Amino acid sequence: MKKPEILILGAGYGGLMTAVNLQKKLGVDEAHITIINKHDYHYQSTWLHEGAAGTIHQDQIRIPIKDVITQHKVKFLKDTVIEIRPNEKQVILENNKLTYDYLVIGLGFEPETFGIKGLKEHALFIRSINSVRFIREHIEYCFAAYNNESEKRDELLTIVVGGAGFTGIELLGELANRIPELCREFDIDRRKVRLICVEAAPTALPGFNPALVEYAMNQLERKGIEFKIGTAIKECTETSIIVAKDENVEEIKAATVIWAAGVRGNSIVEKSGFEAMRGRVKVNSDLRAPGYDHVFIIGDCALVINEEIDRPYPPTAQIAIQMAETCADNLVALVRGKDNLKEFVPDIKGTVCSLGHDDAMGVVFGEKQLYGAQASIMKKVIDNRYLWKLGGLSLVLKKGKLNFF
Ligand code: FAD
Ligand code: NAD
Repeated sequence: MKKPEILILGAGYGGLMTAVNLQKKLGVDEAHITIINKHDYHYQSTWLHEGAAGTIHQDQIRIPIKDVITQHKVKFLKDTVIEIRPNEKQVILENNKLTYDYLVIGLGFEPETFGIKGLKEHALFIRSINSVRFIREHIEYCFAAYNNESEKRDELLTIVVGGAGFTGIELLGELANRIPELCREFDIDRRKVRLICVEAAPTALPGFNPALVEYAMNQLERKGIEFKIGTAIKECTETSIIVAKDENVEEIKAATVIWAAGVRGNSIVEKSGFEAMRGRVKVNSDLRAPGYDHVFIIGDCALVINEEIDRPYPPTAQIAIQMAETCADNLVALVRGKDNLKEFVPDIKGTVCSLGHDDAMGVVFGEKQLYGAQASIMKKVIDNRYLWKLGGLSLVLKKGKLNFF
């Protein structure tokens, strides 16, 4: 009998963990499994801000896919997905066209710029290894240029971060630690450097525990970050950013503008005809796409409602990894001809937000609040735990965060 073809699109947290779970649960003669990704490595999106600031090297963030898959069970194909044709059970790649019996879409997130003028052209984005390497090198270039131009342009030393959500705050924590190092390296007076965060909501980290938000703001302000809260980015030009608080409009000259003020699901999903909200498909309780029993959608391309508050769960790695487990179990059931699929029930263990490698804050195990070194250690434990799940002890030793202080 012909073995069913399982295609997994994207080797992020959701896609790669689905493959790793399937290789443990399915025998070689039960299915053909192929995972497709545009690079031959998996990157940990949750560490990308560290690569952007230059506090860790990008090679620590990426993991060769072949190091974590069992190649006689899962085939890896390096290619880029262009379109999904669910009615024909086909996937169009840049260099190939494949058919499937079961499909897993785990194509992740992309920046959401809400149509704000000039952002796509002039801002920098935290999206991939290539995009964060560019941010790091751009900042270094600006610092190097400052002392080599006859006329001193202070905007070369001004960095604006758009958004004080978790990405913005974690990035600021890394930059606050990195800037003094850069100043020493490039002979620059630290007082000349401006690090500004612009947040549209009335508070940083809207919706998060206020005491923890206050802790984060105090720690970052102490390290020289300027917050402009209740202030929205309205436009980005080649040399500046235009922001507005109520009726007051201000232009801030800045050579570096990093957009961390919103994400959406991969646009390929809606271009392929799936009904989506900001690129996220409201999936059935078993993670299948409504109307497509052979298609699972997981991670940041999927939307699951938290019934307690009647709002979607935020797109996180924590949820993507849990979805991968349910998705793999349901694929195993379908391949074995069973129809009792599992319901996806998120088990939120907490949220810990880093403020540089040496500080953090968060809530774990329900309502336990952590600050400072304790929270920072917890954050590293969470990071290492994922590596353990993905590739065991050897991966933790190769890529883990083993310097806890
Ligand atoms: P992704 O991790 O985005 O992976 C998608 C994969 O698909 C990538 O490998 C990509 O290269 C590939 N791909 C994309 N398009 C194509 C294509 N056309 N063809 C082929 N391959 C393609 N969440 C937490 O729970 N905790 C945290 O501490 C945390 N920190 C974060 C820090 C930052 C800076 C950011 C940006 C996010 C953070 N998140 C965190 C959120 C988390 O990173 C995402 O929710 C998670 O990455 C989603 O996983 P995913 O598998 O859906 O997609
Ligand atoms: P987000 O949507 O959570 O936050 C974006 C922030 O930008 C919001 O505070 C919003 O008010 C602000 N904003 C929007 N438009 C703006 C404008 N025009 N001008 C100024 N500010 C504006 O996005 P994110 O922080 O990138 O997070 C994405 C996902 O990743 C979330 O689900 C988050 O929980 C997750 N994440 C988690 C962690 C963690 O657990 N430690 C870290 C990073 C990201």
